[in-house]
Amino acid sequence: MIDQLLKGNTQFVATEFQPNAAYYEALALKQTPTVLWIGCSDSRVSEHQMTGSKPGTMFVHRNVANIVAFNDVNISSILEYGVVHLKIEDIVICGHTRCGGIAAIEDGVRENYIADWLCIASGAKEVADRVASERGLSREEKLELLTAENVKLQIKHLKNLALIKNQHAKGTLPRIHGWLYRVENGTIDVLVDGRAESPQA
Ligand SMILES: [Zn+2]
Repeated sequence: MIDQLLKGNTQFVATEFQPNAAYYEALALKQTPTVLWIGCSDSRVSEHQMTGSKPGTMFVHRNVANIVAFNDVNISSILEYGVVHLKIEDIVICGHTRCGGIAAIEDGVRENYIADWLCIASGAKEVADRVASERGLSREEKLELLTAENVKLQIKHLKNLALIKNQHAKGTLPRIHGWLYRVENGTIDVLVDGRAESPQA
């Protein structure tokens, strides 16, 4: 596999980088992404590919189950750099179908660190449990609902961070969007349209 990756890089240089040399030369001098992406670490969820974007489009943070934790210095520093220095206009939190993290929230998990991490999404499970029992949802329907509820919960966490709260107190940016990527067909559903939402919502 490693050889394949390096061969892939040679192809990238020949078929993408060199034919677009002017674009990549400008990009080498400065990155100016306007979108900050918070997604899952899952290997099937490649943000630039699924959105047809070139390198330089998005500043990216990915973790298990696209979670925003208030005590995570990693995401906080990415948010600070993105919002304060890069002047990011839009933040996308993107969950995805058939997410192992979401299944682990539903089923429970033995590994200590993963279990502790997923505790941050437990509020989403409470909502999904209630709705699934009210509506008699199948397991697959419930997992999709839990995925969507987790995206909404993480948006709430994001809006509660002082950095974002203070930013929103000054205006409407960054807009915050919630998406669901379907690994089975490659499409994106908009769960929360940040273009239509007020920052205090
Ligand atoms: Zn996932």
